[in-house]
Amino acid sequence: MLSIFRCTQKEYAEALVKQLGRGSRHAALVYSELFRKGEILGVTPAFKTAKKLLEEIKSATVFELPQAIRHIEEGKTRKFLLGEVEAVAIPMAAGWTLCVSSQVGCRMGCAFCQTGKMGLLRNLTAEEIVAQVFYAVHVAKIPIRNLVFMGMGEPFDNYEEVMRTIRVLTDPGGFGFGPRHISVSTSGRVEEILRFAQEADPALNLAVSVNAPNDAVRARLMPINDTYSMQDLKQALEVYLQHPRRTLLAEYVLIKDVNDSLQAAEELAAYLQGLRVKINVIPYNPGTRGIFAPPHLAQQEAFVERLRALGFRVLLRSTHGQKIMAACGQLGDLELRKQYRLKHLAANTPIHVR
Ligand code: SAH
Ligand code: SF4
Repeated sequence: MLSIFRCTQKEYAEALVKQLGRGSRHAALVYSELFRKGEILGVTPAFKTAKKLLEEIKSATVFELPQAIRHIEEGKTRKFLLGEVEAVAIPMAAGWTLCVSSQVGCRMGCAFCQTGKMGLLRNLTAEEIVAQVFYAVHVAKIPIRNLVFMGMGEPFDNYEEVMRTIRVLTDPGGFGFGPRHISVSTSGRVEEILRFAQEADPALNLAVSVNAPNDAVRARLMPINDTYSMQDLKQALEVYLQHPRRTLLAEYVLIKDVNDSLQAAEELAAYLQGLRVKINVIPYNPGTRGIFAPPHLAQQEAFVERLRALGFRVLLRSTHGQKIMAACGQLGDLELRKQYRLKHLAANTPIHVR
C-alpha cells in the first residue's frame, strides 16, 4: 500500500498505474483534490464516468493521518500533537508560520534545548512530516503561509526524508508551497550543508544555529562543535552562499551571562563578516528545569543594537507559546517521554538517549 502523503503527484500517478494498469489522469486529480481541498470528493466531471476507477484508486492508497491526540492553545499560538509528533502554528506579521518536526527528539544534545534532552527516539518519515502540514491546513483550517523546520529534531540528521518532504510540499500539483516560503534550520552539520548547497532549490531558505561568539562557548552549548569547528562551519556557509540568490539566516539563542555580552556581539559580528546573512536573536526560553536564563530585555536590546551598529540586519524574536511549551527548544512532552521509554523498555528494544 502506498501512502499518498509521501509522493509527489507524478510519483503517485505512476505508482498507481503500475498497480492498476490504468488511471494516471484520475490519480493525478485525486492527488490535487486531496492536497488543495483536503478531501477527495470525486465531483470533478472526469469522475462521472469513472466511479469504479475512483474506488480502485482509493482502495490502493493510504490516506490515513496520525490521530491528533492533543491540541493546545496559548493566545493565538497552537500546538498540535499528532501521535508523538509535535507541530506549532504561530501567527506572525506576514501570516501564519507552521513550525514542523523532523524527528521525535534529537540526538545533537544542545545544552539549552528541551528536545535535546530527550535524545533521539526516531526519525520521522516524509508522510509523517507532510501530515503535520496537512493537519494544520485542512483539519485545523489555518492558512499557513510559511513553513519552518524548527520543531523537534535536526532536519539534516534525517536528510533524505526531509528533502522528500520538501519535494511533496512544493509540488505544484499538490500543496504548491513556494520554496521561498520554506526554511530548514540546522545546528550546523557541515556535510549536509554542502549537500544542500549542491542539490537544493536556491529559493529554499537555510537557517543555521550559530548560538555562540567563539568555539569555547559553542562547544559548551553544542556538542556538534567538537566535530565541526566554527571555522569549518563558516567554510561550508561560504560554499552555500556562492549561489548569488542565496541568503542565510543565523540563529542566536541569547543566554544570560553565557553569550549575551557586547563583546560577544562584536565577536559574532567578526565571525559573520563577509556572509550574506540576517541574524535572528532568540531570547532563551526556559525549559522545565533549565540551568540557563534569558537576559533582561535591556541587555537583549543592547546586544541587538551593537550588531546593528556593526551593519547587520537583526531581528529580535519575541517568544510565542512559552506556557504551552511550544516555543523554540521547548518541544518535547515530558509525559510522552515517559510513556515512550516505558513502551521501549517493555518491548526490550534499544532507544538512543544521550
Ligand atoms: N535542530 C535544528 C532545528 C530545531 S531547533 C537547529 O538546532 O537549528 C530551532 C531553533 O531553536 C534553533 O535555532 C535552536 O538554537 C533554538 N532553540 C533551542 N532551544 C532553545 C531555547 N531553549 N530557547 C530558545 N531557542 C532555542
Ligand atoms: Fe537538536 Fe536543534 Fe535542539 Fe540542538 S537545538 S538539540 S540540534 S533540536
